[in-house]
Amino acid sequence: MDDKQKICHFCGRPEEETNMLIRGAFGDTYICDECIHAANEIISASEPEPEAALSDFDLEKLPTPSKIHSELNRYVIGQENAKRMVSVAVYNHYKRIKNHIANKDIEIDKSNILMLGPTGTGKTLIAQTLARQLQVPFAIADATVLTEAGYVGEDVENILVRLLQSADYDPRKAEYGIIYIDELDKITRKSANPSITRDVSGEGVQQSLLKILEGTVAHVPPKGGRKHPEAKMVHIDTRNILFICGGAFDGIEEVIARRIGKKEIGFGEKLQTGKTLSKNEIMEQISPEDLINYGFIPELVGRLAVLTSLDDLDESAMITILTKPRNALVKQYKFLIEQEGMRLDIRKSALREIVRQAMKRKTGARALRSVMEDMMLDLMYRAPDMDNIEKVIIDKEVARGKKDYKFVKKAS
Ligand code: ADP
Repeated sequence: MDDKQKICHFCGRPEEETNMLIRGAFGDTYICDECIHAANEIISASEPEPEAALSDFDLEKLPTPSKIHSELNRYVIGQENAKRMVSVAVYNHYKRIKNHIANKDIEIDKSNILMLGPTGTGKTLIAQTLARQLQVPFAIADATVLTEAGYVGEDVENILVRLLQSADYDPRKAEYGIIYIDELDKITRKSANPSITRDVSGEGVQQSLLKILEGTVAHVPPKGGRKHPEAKMVHIDTRNILFICGGAFDGIEEVIARRIGKKEIGFGEKLQTGKTLSKNEIMEQISPEDLINYGFIPELVGRLAVLTSLDDLDESAMITILTKPRNALVKQYKFLIEQEGMRLDIRKSALREIVRQAMKRKTGARALRSVMEDMMLDLMYRAPDMDNIEKVIIDKEVARGKKDYKFVKKAS
C-alpha cells in the first residue's frame, strides 16, 4: 500500500478535496472529476464547426415578397409602406445569399433596414414576425446600452451572443439570422448623454456598430461563457446577418422639411400648390442625407440602404389592433373568459374608450395591453367563482370604471 498522498496531476488538488480521483494506466498518475469535466468542455468547444449548411433555413423555400407581406398582414395593422418595403428588402437579402452560395465570386452587397416611427407602432413586431416566418434566429438589442469596447455597458458583440443563443448555439445558423436594434436615434453624435460612465459622443458606438453591420468576423464566447481560458471562442461572420434598426427619431421631420423646403416647400406651411404636407407625408421623403444631418456618420448611413417610416396609429388602427390580429388582446381575453364558462361581449363603445385611454399615454399600441389589463383585472378575479352566468357585457361605462360589468344569467 502506497501511503504517498494521491493528488490530481492536472490541478494539483489532493484526493480529499476531490469527489473522485481516477488512476491512469501507467504509474501513479491521477486525474480528478473536475478536470475531466473541464477537459470535456474544452474538447466540445474546439470541435470543428460544421461546413456551411443552412440547417433549418431552406433558401429554396424562401417566400416571395407578397407571401412575406401577407404573413406580416396577419399580425401588423396598417404600416403598408413599411410592410411592402421590408418584404422586398428581406426577400432580396436572402436571395443575394442564395446567389452567393451558388456563385462565390459574386459579392453580396447587404442592405440593412432602418425603420423610423413613433414608439409602439409596430417596428419590433415587424422584425419579430419576419424572423418567425423565415424561421431564422432572432435577437433584439437596444442601441442605448451599446458602448465602444472597453467602456462600461454592453459591447456590440454581446448582441451576437444573444443571436447565437437563439440559434441553439449553432454559429452557422446565427450567421443567417436577423438582429433588431432599437433606439438607434439615441446614439447620434450630438446627443447629450446624461450618463458620465458612457461614451458621450455616440460616434464611437456608431463606429463599432458599423463594423458588425458591414460584416466582420466576431469572436464570441461559447455556450456558458468562458469558464476556461482555453475554451475556443466561436467565430461569427456578420456579413449575412440582416440588421433591422428602429427608432422614433423625434424631430427628424424638421430636418427633412428643411431639406425639401430648400427646394420647394416650407414645413407646416402651405405649398405653392396650396397643399400642406402631413408629418407622415414628410417622413416618407426621408433620405440618407437627413440621417447625416440628424447626427449619424455617413458610413453607417451608407449601410442602412432601406429606409422606411411607420405612421402614428389612429383610432381605427388601434381598434383593429385590439380585435383583429391572430393574437389580438380581445381574442385572448375572450378565450380566457370562455375557459370560465362565460362569453365575453366587449361593445364597440368600450373598445373606443380603451383606445382613448391608451392614446393618452403616447406609447402607441403598447399602452393597449395595460389599459385592457386594468379593465379586465376585476373580472378575471371574480369569474372563476361565478356560475350561472352566460355572458359578461363591457360597454363604455364599464370601460371607464364607472359601472360594474353587466352579467347575463343563464336561462334556467
Ligand atoms: P415599436 O414600434 O416601439 O417597436 P412594438 O412593435 O414593440 O413597437 O409594439 C408594441 C406592441 O404593440 C406590439 O407587441 C403589438 O402588440 C402592438 N402593436 C404595435 N404596433 C402594431 C401594429 N401596427 N399592428 C399590430 N399590433 C401593433
